[in-house]
Amino acid sequence: MMRATAATTIQTTPSYSYLTARKTMTPSARTIKNHRMDNNNNNNNRRRRRGELLQIVSEGTGRFIVGGNWKCNGTRESVKALVEALNKNVPNIEKNCDIYCCPTFLHLPYVKDNLNERFNVCAQNSWVEADLVDPEHHYDSTTGAFTGEISAEMLEDLQVPFVLLGHSERRTLLGDTDEIVGKKVAHARYHGLSVVVCVGETLEERENGTTFDVIFKQLKAVAKEIDDREHSSWGSSVVIAYEPIWAIGTGKVATPEQVQEVHSKIRSWLAENVSEDVAKATRIQYGGSVNASNCADLAKLSDIDGFLVGGASLNGDDFAAICNASSVHYKAVGR
Ligand code: PEP
Repeated sequence: MMRATAATTIQTTPSYSYLTARKTMTPSARTIKNHRMDNNNNNNNRRRRRGELLQIVSEGTGRFIVGGNWKCNGTRESVKALVEALNKNVPNIEKNCDIYCCPTFLHLPYVKDNLNERFNVCAQNSWVEADLVDPEHHYDSTTGAFTGEISAEMLEDLQVPFVLLGHSERRTLLGDTDEIVGKKVAHARYHGLSVVVCVGETLEERENGTTFDVIFKQLKAVAKEIDDREHSSWGSSVVIAYEPIWAIGTGKVATPEQVQEVHSKIRSWLAENVSEDVAKATRIQYGGSVNASNCADLAKLSDIDGFLVGGASLNGDDFAAICNASSVHYKAVGR
């Protein structure tokens, strides 16, 4: 079993990925990027001095990480109530766990301003133009005639530290292909966002024995983009959420054996196809009908680094209980 042990850190310098990307740019693109990076560093320094720097928690620390996917839910009133319920639970939540919450884009600014900083905010998606092959343009598509979309640049501007990409509902209902998810990941990483990438099979795929073909293809599309453009940034800033589609919102949870098998194979795939370091550092969450009652059994698994939670994340007490499964996990794995 491979585990990462480094302590959680705050990202203070441009990552190697930025440096690699810079090398491949034309001089003019580099000038624009240099300017942006200098600005970012200056902004970070200013924010650090004011004690406001967002804690970028996806550092591949092996810390348990729990996310709440609020999906397309919420009115102003219900979101306010959920924020209050979560805030009320802060004293009850263990310190040994990283947490992010994904409200709708509409509710994101409110949640960011009102949710206790114990919780990070996370966008549910971000856009990238599908057909761009020119990396310079790919990275600099700040704005444009793309009605209804939200870009990684906007999330960066709003200081949203996380984005959820490739959720199965986006893949199956909204046409996100493996390739577009890979591009979205690279683009979001380029703009400094930590990324949670969802992978998982349908019931039919599980039953016809193609679970790993499907998942490895989804991972490959991400690895290809990150390797090409964001080399080496994976382990520090990319979390994988294994979410079997047949378990999402169905009340049918994958068995601990099924989860452990998939998670350990994802880790082996990363070791063979990306690097040993990335395999050790990447945190792999399980998602699919996790709730306050079943989370403890799953948390005991050695290769589970946390949960991505849908329905149960809309209840502040239940979500807090799921976050606290982190203690069960550490105890079970002897940390
Ligand atoms: C999800 O939407 O990512 C999810 C896991 O949903 P649920 O927990 O409701 O199954």
